Parts: sequence; C-alpha cells; structure tokens
Amino acid sequence: MAAKNVTAHILGIVQGVGFRPTVYLYAEKHHLSGWVLNSSRGVELEVHGEASDVDAFLDELRNFPPPQAKIDRFLVADAPYRLFSGFEIRESENHVDDFLPVSADLAICDDCKRELADPHDRRYRYPFINCTHCGPRFSIIREIPYDRPNTTMAEFTLCADCAGEYHNPADRRFHAQPVACPACGPEIWSEQAGQVTAHAEAALQQARAWLKAGKILAVKGLGGFHLCCDAHSINAVQTLRQRKQRSAKPFALMAPSLQVIDRYARLTQAASELLNSPQAPVVLLELTEAGRELAAIVAPGQVRLGFMLPYTPLHILLTEAEPAFPDVLVMTSANLSEEPIAYTNSEARERLSTLADAFLLHNRPINMRIDDSVVALLREKPYFFRRARGFAPSPLVTSFQSEPLLATGTQLKNTFCLSRGPYHFVSHYIGDLENQETLTAFEQAICHYESLFRVQPKLIACDLHPDYMATRYAVSRATSQGLPLVAVQHHHAHIAACLAENNWDSAEPVIGLAFDGTGYGSDGTIWGGEVLLAGYHGFERRFHLLPARLPGGDLAVRKPARTALSYLSLAGLDPLEADLPSASYLGKEEAQAVIHQVQSGFNAPLTSSLGRLFDAAASLLGICHEVSFEAQAAAALEAAADPTEAGFYEIPLDGEVMDPRPLVIALVADRRAGLSLTRIAARFHNSLIQLSLNAARQLRAETGIRHVAISGGVWQNLYLMNRILPYLEADGFIPLFHQQLPPNDGCISLGQSAVAAHSIFTK
Ligand code: ZN
Ligand code: ZN
Ligand code: FE
Repeated sequence: MAAKNVTAHILGIVQGVGFRPTVYLYAEKHHLSGWVLNSSRGVELEVHGEASDVDAFLDELRNFPPPQAKIDRFLVADAPYRLFSGFEIRESENHVDDFLPVSADLAICDDCKRELADPHDRRYRYPFINCTHCGPRFSIIREIPYDRPNTTMAEFTLCADCAGEYHNPADRRFHAQPVACPACGPEIWSEQAGQVTAHAEAALQQARAWLKAGKILAVKGLGGFHLCCDAHSINAVQTLRQRKQRSAKPFALMAPSLQVIDRYARLTQAASELLNSPQAPVVLLELTEAGRELAAIVAPGQVRLGFMLPYTPLHILLTEAEPAFPDVLVMTSANLSEEPIAYTNSEARERLSTLADAFLLHNRPINMRIDDSVVALLREKPYFFRRARGFAPSPLVTSFQSEPLLATGTQLKNTFCLSRGPYHFVSHYIGDLENQETLTAFEQAICHYESLFRVQPKLIACDLHPDYMATRYAVSRATSQGLPLVAVQHHHAHIAACLAENNWDSAEPVIGLAFDGTGYGSDGTIWGGEVLLAGYHGFERRFHLLPARLPGGDLAVRKPARTALSYLSLAGLDPLEADLPSASYLGKEEAQAVIHQVQSGFNAPLTSSLGRLFDAAASLLGICHEVSFEAQAAAALEAAADPTEAGFYEIPLDGEVMDPRPLVIALVADRRAGLSLTRIAARFHNSLIQLSLNAARQLRAETGIRHVAISGGVWQNLYLMNRILPYLEADGFIPLFHQQLPPNDGCISLGQSAVAAHSIFTK
C-alpha cells in the first residue's frame, strides 16, 4: 500500500465547536501525521499516511464531526508527498479576504452541568464553566479567527491548570477559548445602591434571597442583562411593569427543569428537545390550568407562555430548586421599553438603576449584545418569533449566489442582512428603530458583522419607506460610498424572504399571501393585506384588502377602537350605536372626532392592512380597545378563538379587492344575536383561511401556479398557521412558509437581499 498526502478545507460552523481536537484524535487513531489549523476560511488540514488510513480518517471526520459543527462544504485535494514528524495543531491563519461563519452562543452542555454539581470538581458551582461544546461564542468574539486573544476572554490569563487543559488535545477543553476556573476566570458579585454587597457564592445567595423577598434584580447574562423576579409575585411583576413602562407585553420565564415547566405548560417531545437544545430559546407553550393562573400575572390575555431553561451555569445556580424559592422566574430583557438590551456593567448601573432593586454582575465583558430567541412550534418544528441568541449569526444558505451586499431591513423588529455568495448573515434581532440607542446598536452591529464576515457591500438594499431610519442609513451609506441602492417593496420582500428560505431557485413567481400590519406600498399608501404574484425579480399586486381610513394614523394603531369605528362606517353601519363597545370605550367626544376624521379623510390615511382589520375585530368584540405593543389585539383575538368552531364570514373578491364589509356586518350581527365571543373570534380567523384559499384558487386558475408563499406578521398567529397549511395542501397547493426566520419583519432584510441580488447581479 502506498502512502499519500491530502489536504482538506472544511467550511461551515467549524470553529469554537471542538473541531481541531476531533481532527487530532482521528488522525492519531488512524496513524496519520500532518497538521490542522483554524483559518478565516474554516478549518484546513493536511494529513500523510497509508492511503487506506487517510480514507478512513476522512470518512470518520465527514460522518462523525463534533456534535455542534455544521459542515457546509468538505473539500479534499491530493497534495504533494511529504513527511511530518507527527500531528500538530498549528497557529490560526488569517486570510484577509475570506470569511467564516462564527458559532452562535451555546447553552451549557451535560458534561459541564455534571462538573458544576460535583463537589470534587475544581469548577464546582463556578458560574463560568464551559468547554469546547458549550458556552459563549458570538457574544464574546471581537475578531476572527475565533481564538482567545480575539475574544473578551483575552484579559483573563489562564492559570496553570486551565492552560494544561487548553493545550492538551486529549482534553475536552482543548482550545475552548472561554475556558476559565475560579482561580483565573471571571467572577460574580452583587451590588445594591452602588455598593458591592458580596462576592462569588455569597453574592449568588444574596441574589437568591433578594428574589425570594420579591425584589427585582438586574442579572448580567450571556448576551446582556435580564430583569428578573419571582413570576408568582403579583407585586414584583406589577412593579416591574410600571418601571419598564410595559403595561401588558408578556414576560419570558425561566424555570429550573422540564418538570417544573410541565406544571404550567403542555410539553410535547419536540418542545422538550427545543428547550434542552444548545440554542435553548424561549419556547412558546400552551397553558395548563396552573399555567393560566401564572399567565394572568406575567402574560395577560395570552394563550401561550414563553419558557426557557437555564442556559448558562450562572442561570442554573440562580434558579436552583429549593423549598420556598420561586419555581419560575421572570427573565425579561433589561431595558426600558423599546430600547436595546443593556450589556455593559456601567451602562447597566446607569440605565437600570431605576428598574432594578439590585444587581448581580460579572466581569466577563459582552462584546455583542444579543437577546433571547423566541420560538413557537409549528408541525413540531421551530417557528420563529424572534431569531437571536443561539441562532444568529449562523448564515442562511440559499440556492442562489449574491455579490457582497447589505440589506438594512425595516423599522420594526429590525434585522439587517449581509450577503456574500450563497451565504446570508441575517443579523440577530436588533429591535424597533425608533430611538437613538437602537439606531446606534444597529450601526455597531452592521460594522461588526461586516468585519467578522469580511463583507464589503457593493450594493445597498432597503425598504421603500423614505422615512425609516434603516432606509435613511441605507441612503446615506450608498451616497457616501457611491454604491447603487435598491429599494424593495415591503411585501415583495416578505415573499422573497420566504422563497429564499425555502431554497426557491426558479425565476417563476409564486402566489404570495403577505398579511401584516404596515408596509409602505408602491403607490405611497400603507399596505398590509396583499395577495401577490411574486418572485425574486418582481411582483404584481393581485388582490388587496379594501383600504380603510386609519383615523389619527399612529394613534389608531395604538387604539384599535378608533379603527373599529372606521370599519363600521366603511361597512355602512352606525359607529355610534349604543350597543357597540368601541365608541363607548372612546367616549362621545373622541368618537365624534374619529368619525369626522374618517369622513373627511383628514389625518386619516388609507390602509389595506390586515393587522388593522384584526384590531377592529378585537375592539368590536370588546376584547381589546387599546394596545401597548404591536399585534397585541391580534394575539388577544387569537387567544379568544374557539378551535372547534367551523363557521366563517364571507370576504368576497371583487376585481382586485378583498372586501371585508360583509364580514364586519356579519360579525356585528353575530354579536347582537348573542353568539359567544369565542365562536365569533374563531369565525373571524376562519374567514381569513377561506379568503386565502379563494384568492389562491383564483390565481391558480389563471396562471397554473401551485406554490403559495406565506409571510407577514399576521402569520405569527398559530390558529391561522395550523389551519392554512392543511387546507392549502388538501386543495393541491404547495405551501412555503418560514422555518429559519420569523414571518414578521425580522425576515424583511433577507427578502430585500434576495430581490437586490437578482435585480443587478443575477448569474
Ligand atoms: Zn460544556
Ligand atoms: Zn484557571
Ligand atoms: Fe411586515
């Protein structure tokens, strides 16, 4: 048998996941010499040995890579014959133009959990225990390649024990960049009123005592601070709401185990796996009886609660079960409503001192702030509401190639997207670009992603809305750098995002159901109930909801009761009729003013938004007249809907218009006839399913198209999603829906990128 040399180049998520130690072990096992290194291109290696050994080595590496690795490409080439004295792990190499996906932050692994609980381990109860399979990644990395000096761990010098593990290829902490121990690593302490009150274990116990006593704590975590309190304490939760100026938005929860979550929510196999996964997102779960009581406090009006498991060692210690200690904690992003999550100690002391009674701090710096991801389950698979920690910045890979470009996304639930080749680095959830702090976070994150992934945009894509901060950023960037700018219509971007995610590689259009709250239309009006024929290259607006007046503009968005009056008058009903709840909620004066606005059109823009129709229906049923966060009324209506109801209202298609007036009339009639709210709410939902089917059938009859792409914030509604998919399939359609990005505006940047990539650079 002849000896040979081969080189391999492995791309994907291959750094920070124990790839090189695995290569080392396999090379030893198969008696090979050579080397392996991390480069900004991925992992590169060369081996020398008997041909059969080399092949066995490559097979094993391909088939059994480290569990958290995600290999996109595995390129092997023959190399000139040469000998090595052994197998070595070489210094990282940095190729200036190349890029490499960076691993997302990973929840603590089972081995580290075991050591954390082992009194004989030197990291017993150490809040920063981690290994090559777990711990912080994206949130601590300053520059690639992913090596300790390029992370926020650079300032901690390894002790002799940790250094031994770090340099020993047989150790499970070999080249684990954040490796640390109580002797050399980061530490925790507690603070109150500007004074340090305790360190290490004593600080932890102090924090737990505060929580037990109903205090609100600011706790520094992996990607930023949480505000934390006893979820059962009405007092603590109310105080938190007041201080956060967040009157109704549901809070995320953390419980120490699946057993505890099982008390409050219905756990399926898939949900348990997702909660326990290395991504460890907040998972939205349906309530049990006990869950309903808890929801009344932490998530009023919701059918679901968002739970997560402790995903860092610090969280495990903080939530530890003990009699009389709260079994569930509120764990919400530490910010004033709509500001970005706080992530440095000094910022936290400054911004959170009015929100928190005390602090649990640590000195491992966070380089990039990142919120918790929020995921529901659809068909037992993750269905994203917010994509952030654990998922970003892993790129989406599409079937088409893109030149380097930046898509800046939209105003609410902003993400941006940097594209290069088949890779699309859709950023973590940035937030609503409505204040300077969030804008700064947006700009910093763009800078960071550009340098991390070596993307030098040659084109900028943005929304059509001229006044969005993301659009202004795009315009000024394009102008100052002399780059072409492509503005993409919002709902076109929704459908294109859905196509890109589903590996759509055809120039053919699909039927697009783009149902959401607000998007700037090509005609300058506000769109949001749109059935498109759309592909990457363009779109036709085939059906849209009959435009209604939005009395007071943004004021109507905050007060669904105003929109309800508008819909009543559109439907030819008397909005001031005494038995209708919307007018009486507003009071005579405001109701009169609203009607005047509707009739005159003064400060009452037209919109075809389906989100607003949800608002109107929620108010007409007396469920919700005023909201404090986006989609609150729609969520309340979904929560009310009786899943056994089969009735629906007609929304006729008339030319290009989907006419909601018969629905409004029938809904009011049902209410007057005394039909239960739960049945009416369900009928409302069912109407949209029927409408979608009718529109899709009509377009299929005209064009023969059978693919239906589903996108837009309205589709966060699981009552709708759980029905639209089987109905479409039963009718011979092929539904395409989001599985990697949220259906809400978090997907817009990818859609903009896909459209822009095809508009100029198509290959
Ligand atoms: Zn670990
Ligand atoms: Zn150490
Ligand atoms: Fe949208």
